[in-house]
Amino acid sequence: MKEERTLVLIKPDALQRNLLGEIVTRFERKGLKIIGMKMVRLDDVLLKEHYGKYADKPFFAGLKRFMSSSPVIAMALSGIKAVSTVRYIVGQTRGYEADPGTIRGDFGMSQQANLVHASDPSESPEEEIKRFFKREELFEYKKIDFEFLYAEDERN
Ligand code: ADP
Repeated sequence: MKEERTLVLIKPDALQRNLLGEIVTRFERKGLKIIGMKMVRLDDVLLKEHYGKYADKPFFAGLKRFMSSSPVIAMALSGIKAVSTVRYIVGQTRGYEADPGTIRGDFGMSQQANLVHASDPSESPEEEIKRFFKREELFEYKKIDFEFLYAEDERN
């Protein structure tokens, strides 16, 4: 099976609430490989591109203010079925409805301040990765747990 890549942004509320380590740990322990990671402050151009489909929504201005209120952590993760796996770990959009055990379900109370962005499979995760990372900021390397994370037939 083919490895997929997906984008995660750890949002300003997670940074302010000292949850960066907790959130990174959840992806790491699950078995996702971190292939890119950096701190970045999102400017208006990037936010319009990233949340463009919400440009005519009443919450768009507030969402942009929130997302640029502090830097965010951008992470590129890879793994077999990584796109859907990361969405499961993150949980439903609204923290107050998200399942316990998910990041949003365990730490979030809000619809907007929901700690993490994770690429939607229908919105081209590869495009999102390119939006935040230059080629030289993404890394290929072998991890020694690979053979134990997946069964033989899944690895091929
Ligand atoms: P998800 O992040 O779960 O894929 P969406 O793509 O629907 O969710 O929305 C993108 C982000 O916009 C959400 O994570 C949230 O921060 C914000 N958002 C969505 N809907 C609202 C809303 N009605 N009011 C305020 N913020 C919202």
